[in-house]
Amino acid sequence: MNEADSRDIAASFGRRGYTLTDDLKKADAVVVNTCTVRQRAEDKAISQIGRLRKWKLARPDGKLFIVGCAAQKLGGKDLKRRFPFVDEVTGARDIEYFEDALAAQLGPAPETGYPDSALFRSPQSSYVTIMRGCSHKCSYCIVPAVRGPAVFLPPEEILQDARLKLAAGAKEIVLLGQTVNAYRHGKTTFSELLKKVLGLPGLARLRFMSPHPLYFDESFTAVLAGNPKLARYLHLPVQSGSDRILKAMRRGYTRTQYLDLLAKLRAAVPELAVSTDFIVGYPGETEEDFADTLALIKEGRFSMAFCFKYSPRSDRPEMASHLDEPAMEARLEKLLAAVKKNSRLVLNERIGKIEEVLFETENYGRTSGNFGCRVKAGGAPGALSKALIEGADKNVLNGKVI
Ligand code: SF4
Repeated sequence: MNEADSRDIAASFGRRGYTLTDDLKKADAVVVNTCTVRQRAEDKAISQIGRLRKWKLARPDGKLFIVGCAAQKLGGKDLKRRFPFVDEVTGARDIEYFEDALAAQLGPAPETGYPDSALFRSPQSSYVTIMRGCSHKCSYCIVPAVRGPAVFLPPEEILQDARLKLAAGAKEIVLLGQTVNAYRHGKTTFSELLKKVLGLPGLARLRFMSPHPLYFDESFTAVLAGNPKLARYLHLPVQSGSDRILKAMRRGYTRTQYLDLLAKLRAAVPELAVSTDFIVGYPGETEEDFADTLALIKEGRFSMAFCFKYSPRSDRPEMASHLDEPAMEARLEKLLAAVKKNSRLVLNERIGKIEEVLFETENYGRTSGNFGCRVKAGGAPGALSKALIEGADKNVLNGKVI
C-alpha cells in the first residue's frame, strides 16, 4: 500500500513538473512515507526524519512532507513539535487528500493524468488502490488502528485510475487493498469489479493483492476460471499452520479451511500458483505449533512465502513473545530453508510447460503465476508471448519464446 501511495504521490509532484532524484542535495522536496507495521520500521522512520534536519537547514525553501502509517500513529502535532522543520504531515487515513496538502504548499497542479510510466511498479505494471483500511482485528496487526476500518472506493473512481495508468503505458494492473477481495461498493462486488477492470482496453493482465481467505466465493472462482487475463496467482496470507495459533491471532479460519479453499481454487484452475505470509514466534507458539507451520509449506504447495519474526510493540508489553531472539531467529531460519526447498520443487513443476509471459525487457518477463522468466531472445517489452519452459535457475524460469 505504501509503495502504491508513494508512486501516486510522486505522480502528484510529476504533474507539477518535478522528477525523481536519488540525490538528496538536488531535491527541492522530500517525502518520507513511513511504515509502522513493525516497531523497527517506525524507529527507522523517526531517525530518517531527524537526519533531514541538515537538508532543511541547507535548503530552507525545500518542502518536507511526512506521510503514511507512522505519521498517522504518532500524529501531526507531535511530529511537528518534535521536528519543527517539517512542512506537512499527512497520515495514512488521509493519504487520498495528499494532493490538497501539496496544493497548499506548491499550488494546484497544472496537468492532470498519470505523468510518467517510470513511476510504475515495473516498466508495465501499475498499482490501483481499491480500498483503504481494514475491518478485521488480527491480534498482531496495527493496520486497523492506523488506517481505520475498511473503506471501499467507488468503482467509477477505480476504473478511471486504471484507465489513466493504462493510457500512460501500463499493461498490467494490480488492484490493491488490505483485504482486497472483501471489496463491495453498492451493488458492485469484488467479482463484478474484476469483470469491469478486465474489460478495459489495453489491459494485458490483472492481479490483486492481498486477498483474505474468508472472502472467496463461487462467483470469484467463475471469474478466475473464465478469464485468462486474470493472473493465475494468489498471494494468500496464512500466517500459521497451527489452529491454536490461528485462533489466537483471530484469523477467522482453520488450517483445514485454508487448505480446502486452495483445493477448490486449484480444482477450477489447476495451474494456480499461490504464495503466502508466515509469522514465527507468535506469543505461545510451541514446537508443535511451529511443526504444523513447517508441514503446511509442502501441503499448500506455496511458490514463495514472506516470513517474518513476530514483532512485539513497545506499547503492548502484554503481547511480547515468549521466545528469546536466538530461538526466534532459529525458527525463522528453519522456516526460510523449508520455503526455499519447497519453492524449488514448485518451480521445477513448470519445466516442460508453456507459460504466457508479460515481457518487461527483451529477455525477462513474468508468467501469469508470477514466476520470473528469462529468455535468450524474442521477448517484446510490454507484450504477452508464449514461452516453453526449459529449466529453472534459483527463483527464475528459463524459457524459449515459441
Ligand atoms: S486482515 Fe490483514 S490488515 Fe486486516 S487486521 Fe488482519 S493482518 Fe491486519
